[in-house]
Formats: sequence, C-alpha cells, structure tokens
Amino acid sequence: MSDPIDRAGLAPRFWERKPLRKLNQQEWEALCDGCGKCCLNKLEDEDTGDVALTRVACRLLDDANCRCAQYEIRHQFVPECIVLKPDNLDSHAYWMPQTCAYRLLWEGKPLYDWHPLLSGTAQSVHDAGVSVQGWTVPEFEIPEDDWEDHIIEEPI
Ligand code: SF4
Ligand code: SF4
Repeated sequence: MSDPIDRAGLAPRFWERKPLRKLNQQEWEALCDGCGKCCLNKLEDEDTGDVALTRVACRLLDDANCRCAQYEIRHQFVPECIVLKPDNLDSHAYWMPQTCAYRLLWEGKPLYDWHPLLSGTAQSVHDAGVSVQGWTVPEFEIPEDDWEDHIIEEPI
C-alpha cells in the first residue's frame, strides 16, 4: 500500500531536532503514522479520567486503509472531529492512542521503529499490528450502551 501521507524531502529525524511548535505543516502531518486509532470511539471514566479505546470506529473510517473516507469535508458529517495542532495537543494528548506519534513526542518519548518516518514505508505500521486494519466495527452497528463490550487493550 502506498503512503498517503507526503513524507518526501523531509530532514532526517527532524522531530528530534525541533520542538513540536516549530514544525512546519508538512513535518507536522508527516508525524502521523496512519494507524487510524484516533478514529476509534473512546470511553472516558468520569471519576478517574481513564480513557479506553474501543473497536467501534467512527462512521467515516475505512479500516481497509485506516483512513478517513471524507477527510477534507469530514466536518460536514462529524463536526466533533478534532483537528490536532501544536497549540491544542496539550489538551488532547491524554486521550490519544498510546502509540500515537504526537502523544509519544508530547510525552518526550521516541518514535517506534515501525513508524514510516523511520522504516521508510507505511506498510510497517500494519505489519507491526498497530493499525486498525481489518478489525473495527462500524458505530452504526453497535448501540453506544454496548461500546464497553468492545474495549481493546493498548498498546496494540
Ligand atoms: S493515532 Fe496518531 S498516529 Fe495514529 S492516525 Fe491518529 S494521529 Fe495519526
Ligand atoms: S471524521 Fe474522519 S478523521 Fe475524524 S474521527 Fe472520523 S474517520 Fe477519523
């Protein structure tokens, strides 16, 4: 599968040499590993603040390629979809998947070696078993009261 994210011409390991707020748009977008896990529905414990991911996916997620089927116009269908930026990462990192590159860097951790910026191929994310490829269920098939039956363990 070709890489839908433009990672051409980027400086080697730019994320280790620049703070997140100094990244340009291409660098910021290239940090996304394409796993699709941020498009899974989450359950948040109101008392503890703990967040659990479920295999119940946003209605627009295509789990064959782990991409949003309507990315450019997605807010027409899913107005609550977050646009992650350097200046809102502080408030969103806590619910991002544990393997998400934005969360890892925000926590001061390195990227995994399966990240496309290190492996050189988007396929490595699927081969490592960390993408949602082929195992989600659509949210219109599962009533929200039953989402807790579909909680997944992280990291995956
Ligand atoms: S969880 Fe993070 S790395 Fe994975 S698709 Fe979402 S933004 Fe990209
Ligand atoms: S609208 Fe698209 S980008 Fe947003 S959560 Fe749904 S599938 Fe993911």
